[in-house]
Amino acid sequence: MQIEKEFAPRCGMRLIRLVEPRIFTCSRCTEAKKSKLFARPDVAPDRHLCNGCYGYLLSVFDIKKGSQSEDEKSSLLAAALLQAFSKAQKQESERLFRIAEKRAGYLDSKSVLFLSTANLVEDALAQKHELDWSPAVIGYCKAVENEIVKRLIDPLAGLVKGLLSRADLDDKDFGRVAKYCNSPSNKPPELGVFAHFLQTFASSTSRRATSGFLRAFDALAHNFPRRDWLVDRGGLSASLTKLCFEYRNRAAHVESLSSSDYLACREFVCGADGLIWKIVSATLGQKEYNRA
Ligand SMILES: [Zn+2]
Repeated sequence: MQIEKEFAPRCGMRLIRLVEPRIFTCSRCTEAKKSKLFARPDVAPDRHLCNGCYGYLLSVFDIKKGSQSEDEKSSLLAAALLQAFSKAQKQESERLFRIAEKRAGYLDSKSVLFLSTANLVEDALAQKHELDWSPAVIGYCKAVENEIVKRLIDPLAGLVKGLLSRADLDDKDFGRVAKYCNSPSNKPPELGVFAHFLQTFASSTSRRATSGFLRAFDALAHNFPRRDWLVDRGGLSASLTKLCFEYRNRAAHVESLSSSDYLACREFVCGADGLIWKIVSATLGQKEYNRA
C-alpha cells in the first residue's frame, strides 16, 4: 500500500490517503469499505477507521471544544447521537429497550429514543473511540431533561401561561423557566437551567412568598405523591446537579470519557433505582402512584 498523503494528526487520529483504493474493515463501525482514505488511531496504528467514522469523531470533538454553554453543546451532541444510527437500528434498539424495560411505558417517546439510542452506542461499536462515549452520555442526560419538561415544566406552564409578572419573567435565577412557562416556545429550558430553578426554589423562602411563579410550582408539587423529593435541596435538585457536573458537563467539554463513565451514567439514569424512574414515580397521579 502506497501512501500519497499523511494528514496532520487530529484528536489522536491520522488521516491517510493512498495512491490506490484498498479494502479494509473499519474497526469502529465494523463495515467493509473500499477507499483511498482511512484514519489510524495513534494508540492503535494497526486499526483502520473509515472516513465516515473519522468525520463523525471529529465533529464530536469540534462540538466539545466549542465555546457554547454546556446546555447548547449537549443539544448538539444529542443531535449527533441520533444521526449516528440509521432509522432501522434505532427502531430495533427501541423495541429491545421497551421489551427489557416495561417501565419504559411510563416514559415519553422522545425519552425512550434517547435512552435506547444511547444503549446502541455500546452494542454497535467493535473498537470504541473515547469520543464515542460523550454523545451516549448526553443521550441519557437528554432523556432526563425531556421527562422533566413533560412531567414538570409543561404542567407548570399549563398553570401560569400568560399570567406571569414582569418581576418573575426577568428574574435572574428562574426567568428562563418563567418565560417558557408564560409563553411556551419550541425550545424548553435545558437541564442546567431547571436545576438552578429548583435550587432557587429550595433555598429562598422569601421569594417563594412573593413570586407568583414559585407559588404556582409549590401548588403543582403539592399535588404529586413525592413533593418532598421534588422540592427539597437533597432531592431532585441534588440529583440533577450531580448529573450535570459529573456527566453532562464533562461530556460537553474536551475531556475524554471512558466506558466506565458511560456505564456509571447509565446506571445513575436508568438503573434499577435510576433517576428517570424516580422522576416518573414522584410525578404520577395519586391513584397511579398507589397502584404502581
Ligand atoms: Zn467506520
